[in-house]
Parts: sequence; C-alpha cells; structure tokens
Amino acid sequence: MNLQNLKIALQRSGRLSEGSIELLKKCDIRFDDGVGKLKSTAQNFPIEIFSLRDDDIPRYVEDGVADVGIVGENILAEHGCAVEVVEKLGFGKCRLSVAIPKNHDYASIDDLGGKRIATSYPRVLGRYLEGRGIAAEIHTISGSVEIAPSIGLADAVCDLVGSGSTLFTNGLRETETVMTSEAVLISRKNLDGELRQLVDKLLFRIKAVNAARQNRYILLNAPNERLNKITELLPGIKSPTVMPLAETGWSSVHSVINERDFWDVVERLKDAGAEGILVLSIEQMINGCAGRGGVL
Ligand code: ATP
Ligand code: MG
Repeated sequence: MNLQNLKIALQRSGRLSEGSIELLKKCDIRFDDGVGKLKSTAQNFPIEIFSLRDDDIPRYVEDGVADVGIVGENILAEHGCAVEVVEKLGFGKCRLSVAIPKNHDYASIDDLGGKRIATSYPRVLGRYLEGRGIAAEIHTISGSVEIAPSIGLADAVCDLVGSGSTLFTNGLRETETVMTSEAVLISRKNLDGELRQLVDKLLFRIKAVNAARQNRYILLNAPNERLNKITELLPGIKSPTVMPLAETGWSSVHSVINERDFWDVVERLKDAGAEGILVLSIEQMINGCAGRGGVL
C-alpha cells in the first residue's frame, strides 16, 4: 500500500501530449485525460498526472512540484535545469536547425558571422556558435520564428524542425543542425524511498513498452530441410521456437525480430523457403533481448 503518489508532469496540449498519454496508457496506467483537465489521479497506479506547458515542466520537477516529467531534450538544453534524465522515450523526435532564405548563398557556417538569427533557443544557439568561433546577433523571439526573415527581422532562423515542411513553406532551407532531440523522462534529483521505487516501477513498464515497440513477433512455416537456414536468420530472444506441423516434413517457427531489420529479414526468409509468414505486434517485452540490437 503506497502512502505517496508519484507526481508526473506532461505537456497539456501540443506535440508531446499524445505520445506522453499513449505511453502511460500502454504502461497500463488508467486515468482520465479529458480535455482541459489540469490534474488527474490514476485509478490503478499511485500516480497523479499534471498537465502543464512544456517549458514549465523542468522547473516544476526541479522545484519538487512534480517528481518526474516528460519533456523534449531541446527544452532541457535551453533551460539548463538541475534534473536527472532517466530515460529516452523514442518519440517527439526533432532537430534544432539553422535555416536561411533558400535563394541566399551559403558555403559554410562562417557565413553566419555578423548575421541576425531569430530563435526561441538563444542559449543553445549561443553555445553552438561560440563553440565554432562565430559572432552573430541572436534575436530572441518566442514564436513564429520561421517568418522572421520574410518580415525583415532576421537574416536566418534557428528553430525546431520535424519534416522540414514549415521551413519549406516559408522559403527557408536548413543549413546547420544545432542539436537533435526527443522526449525524455526526467526526475527530480535525489528522489528516494517510496517515490524512487515508484519511478523504478514506472521505468520498468516504460522499458517493456518501448522494447515491444521496437520488435515484432514472427510466425512462419518451413520445410524441415530448410530449417537450419531459416533459424539462422532468426536469432529470437534466446533462439527461435520450432514446432512440428500436422503435415509431415514441415515445422512452424516462432521468433522475435527487430523492427529495424524487419523487411530485410522477411525477404531473406522468403528466399530461404519460408511460407505463410505472419507478423504480430508485441504488447510488452519483459527482461528480454531480441537478438541483434535488443533493448532491455
Ligand atoms: P506549450 O504550449 O506546451 O509551450 P509549444 O508550442 O511550446 O507548447 P510544441 O510545438 O507542442 O510546443 O512542441 C513541444 C515539443 O515537441 C518541442 O519542444 C519538441 O521537443 C517536440 N517536437 C517534436 N517535433 C517537433 C516539431 N516538428 N516542431 C517542434 N517541436 C517538435
Ligand atoms: Mg512551449
């Protein structure tokens, strides 16, 4: 019986909200995520969910208002809060890039010298330029950075990029990647006792969910004389399961394969004589390691 609830801060509405809520739900934490709800308590796990603006999350965690939070690495790099990064979460992937009007010449980063660069990430950009010996004028604005060159406010921008379509629509092209970012689970420093145990419990579930996401369960039929070749292609968690089919001379092979080399492996399995290949997604993977590149 827990006396304390773990308090977790998530982005209220924005690009990380859906991924954060989905992750907790996949961890089988049930709570009401109704629109506009600022706080809710899970029904089946001692956790309270706070919905906040993403910029405020590191500070709330540092100050102990929340114990843990989910936020982009870009925000942490800019705000420099004293929190612990517990785990990379694999969603909310983007990069912080410098972009210039697409018809402007650009040979190297030296071309940014003396230029005005608009950004919401003055500290990260400042460090990046300083590290490369470039003196530019950083113009801090809080939003709609991408329009700064077209209204004459800046010569270049430094902004978050996902697909690059916003830059493209605004006539900009990417020239430098300042940092890459993804969502991470952060925690207050020196959490101990019951709260530390709750973070560990949550982390155990998150790892199982993320490992499952990166792997697929595969079933196939194989003629017995091809089994050696086929099982060589399927490392599995330990090794593939091989069971005889009702039809003599055939076996069913079950295994786990990494999403990264999925198509490549499937093609090689077909070439090696596999038939009736079925691929299923995995809900959770506990304490396993899917052959090459396993995660847990
Ligand atoms: P808030 O109102 O909470 O302050 P926001 O407008 O500052 O929200 P969003 O645009 O929702 O923030 O982005 C939240 C986070 O999502 C970013 O800080 C970044 O880590 C991540 N992200 C992922 N892809 C992108 C992208 N293409 N553009 C911007 N941010 C992205
Ligand atoms: Mg924000």
